[in-house]
Amino acid sequence: MIFQVREYTMTGQLVDVVVVGAGVVGCAIARAITTAFPMASVAVLERHSAPGTETSTSNSGVIHSGIHLPPDSMKARFAQIGAKVVPEYCRARDIPHRVSGMHIVAASRDVFYLPRELANLRSLRQNARACGITIAMRTPWHVQRHEPAIRCLMGIWIPSVVIVDSGALVHALVDDAADHGAVFLFNHDVLSIVCDGPVYSVETTGSTLRARVVVNAAGLGAAHLSDLAGLAHPDIVYIRGEYYEVIDAALRESVRGLVYPVYRPQHPGLGIHLTPTIDGRLLLGPNAVPLASIEDRLLHRTPPEVFVQAVKPFFPACRAAHLRYAYDGIRTTIVHGPSSSDFYLALERRNPWFVNCLGIESPGLTASFGIASAVREMIAPALLRS
Ligand SMILES: Cc1cc2nc3c(=O)[nH]c(=O)nc-3n(C[C@H](O)[C@H](O)[C@H](O)COP(=O)(O)OP(=O)(O)OC[C@H]3O[C@@H](n4cnc5c(N)ncnc54)[C@H](O)[C@@H]3O)c2cc1C
Repeated sequence: MIFQVREYTMTGQLVDVVVVGAGVVGCAIARAITTAFPMASVAVLERHSAPGTETSTSNSGVIHSGIHLPPDSMKARFAQIGAKVVPEYCRARDIPHRVSGMHIVAASRDVFYLPRELANLRSLRQNARACGITIAMRTPWHVQRHEPAIRCLMGIWIPSVVIVDSGALVHALVDDAADHGAVFLFNHDVLSIVCDGPVYSVETTGSTLRARVVVNAAGLGAAHLSDLAGLAHPDIVYIRGEYYEVIDAALRESVRGLVYPVYRPQHPGLGIHLTPTIDGRLLLGPNAVPLASIEDRLLHRTPPEVFVQAVKPFFPACRAAHLRYAYDGIRTTIVHGPSSSDFYLALERRNPWFVNCLGIESPGLTASFGIASAVREMIAPALLRS
């Protein structure tokens, strides 16, 4: 796709809304505001020279059903919205996507783990019922008929799950928002945010803008941005997820859809899974490695044997020689107590208005439309007044 948006400076200009971050969340927010409030002026500030170059394109590209999430969480609510709306949007905008379906399998041969895995499958089934997600329980025979390369003792099949070209999704959101009047300012790294009476003065490496409302959708930079504005926020941790790609053609073609292990709640992430991509690759990943700082990602690569070991119970034909390192992605998760972590969306201050979007980890790609609607509702009073 050839991508074009306007690029210029806006020093001194007053805009209604500044959105910081042109990832999938910031772009969805810009689109939601400009379509609902055509008179509002919106500028999106992005430190890179193109949209969606960080976490939004370093993920599994799965539009999740929400089955793994507590039904009363924001994540579950927004995932359910996304599971319906994102595929519709992809169809309408010709964004490459495919209904691949997802198997979640219990495959442990360990007598200690297998009963727990089966119990976790049952609780996923209850969760699906509570969330209204259509699933089917699968015997090994059913699973193998659909996925001959996969071994398991029991599985759940979610037929509606979609994989998407996440880069194309971000670009379509940018096009939509720009068509409705949003201005995208690339190479604009936000350096300071200062309250100046009824507005914010937002200084960047490009322009210095004045804004009635600031929306912080800066992904990995969101906590820092909140600090810049002098606003308290919950603690976050960075978690890195690496992917390997299957380079053996026969093995790659032996898998048709998404295959996830049944997760163990005490483990971070959903477990290393098999993800066919829109461009015909098969990925193994992500793992979940906590990082002390983002720069630490450069220090270490997890060896392929770790990934082979993780998928061995359900994908036994896979060997380290079949794999090549693909990429990694980093998410931020809110530090939480015993309950599972949720997104943090908060109107931190009125007059001038500031909204924080923090801890937008998986399923943030799926949830982006729901997050965007929620942020639009939060700031609507400010826009209706101006
Ligand atoms: C390994 C992995 C796998 C995942 N898999 C899935 C999945 O299958 N399905 C799913 O739904 N979700 C998935 N997710 C989650 C999903 O990718 C994220 O929730 C989503 O991409 C977050 O989007 P974002 O716009 O908040 O962040 P980003 O895409 O990181 O965008 C933030 C933007 O802000 C910019 N920025 C930061 N600081 C500044 C600054 N000071 N000035 C200007 N710009 C700034 C950055 O350059 C960046 O472009 C996964 C995440 C990971 C890490």
